[in-house]
Amino acid sequence: MSAAEVPATQSARTTVRRSAHRGHYDRETVNAIFDEALICHVAFVADGSPFAIPTIHARVDDILYFHGSPASRMMRLMKKGAEVCVTATLVDGIVAARSAFNHSMGFRSAMVIGSARLVDSPEEREVAFEAITDAVLPGRWAEARQPSRNEDKGTLLVAVPIEEFSAKIRGNDVSDETEDYELPIWAGSIPLSIVAGEAEPDPRLPDGIEIPESVRRFIDGE
Ligand SMILES: Cc1cc2nc3c(=O)[nH]c(=O)nc-3n(C[C@H](O)[C@H](O)[C@H](O)COP(=O)(O)OP(=O)(O)OC[C@H]3O[C@@H](n4cnc5c(N)ncnc54)[C@H](O)[C@@H]3O)c2cc1C
Repeated sequence: MSAAEVPATQSARTTVRRSAHRGHYDRETVNAIFDEALICHVAFVADGSPFAIPTIHARVDDILYFHGSPASRMMRLMKKGAEVCVTATLVDGIVAARSAFNHSMGFRSAMVIGSARLVDSPEEREVAFEAITDAVLPGRWAEARQPSRNEDKGTLLVAVPIEEFSAKIRGNDVSDETEDYELPIWAGSIPLSIVAGEAEPDPRLPDGIEIPESVRRFIDGE
C-alpha cells in the first residue's frame, strides 16, 4: 500500500509492525471484532503505573460506550477525558505446528486509541445504556425493567471514538519451516468458539415464566 493509500484512521502508532500483512485498517473489520467480542480491555496510565481493565463495551456507529460505577478509577479517569487504548480479542483456534517455535493461535483482535468523554445528555445516555445491555444479550433491554432514577444516577457512561484503530487477524493455518514438513510429527489446528450452555432459571423465579426470546436466541447462537 502506498503512503497515498494509507487510510486516515491508520496512524504511525496504530500500524502493525510484526507480521504486518495481518494488519487491517478498515472500519468494517474493526467494528465486526468489537461487535462479536463479549468483553474488551481498557488500558490507561494512572499515577505513573499502567493498568488494563477487562470490561463490557458496546459499539454504536463510530463510538464505543462503557458503563460503570462513579467510584471506579477507570470510569473517573475516562470521564475526565483520559487517553485510553481499548482492545478486543477473539481466539479462533489453537495452531499446533511441527516445531515448538511455530505453535500459535488463530485470532482476530482490534485496537482503538482515543480520548474518552463523559456521556451526559439524557438522550445519549439512553442510547448507551440500551446498547450496552443489548451488546451482551441482544433484545434484553426491551424485556428488562428500565433503570430507576437511582440506578440511572449511580451509573457513569463514557464514550471513546473509533477514529484511530487497527485490527490484526491470523487464520488457523500451520506455518512450519520448509525442512520440517517431512517430520513424523502431527500438525494442525483445533478450532475454538464460545458455545452457550442451557439456561438455568433463577431459583426465585415465579412459576410460569418462560425463557425469553433474547435468552433463547443467544443459546441457539442466532
Ligand atoms: C490471541 C493472541 C495471541 C498472541 N500471542 C502473541 C505472543 O505470544 N507473542 C507475541 O509477540 N505476540 C503475540 N500476539 C501478537 C501481538 O498482539 C502483537 O501483534 C505483537 O506483539 C506484535 O506487535 P508489534 O511489535 O508489531 O506492534 P506494536 O509496536 O506493539 O503495536 C503497534 C500498533 O500495531 C497495532 N497492533 C499490534 N498488535 C495488534 C493486535 N494484536 N491487534 C490489533 N492491533 C494490533 C496497534 O495499533 C498498535 O498500537 C498475539 C495476539 C493475539 C490476538
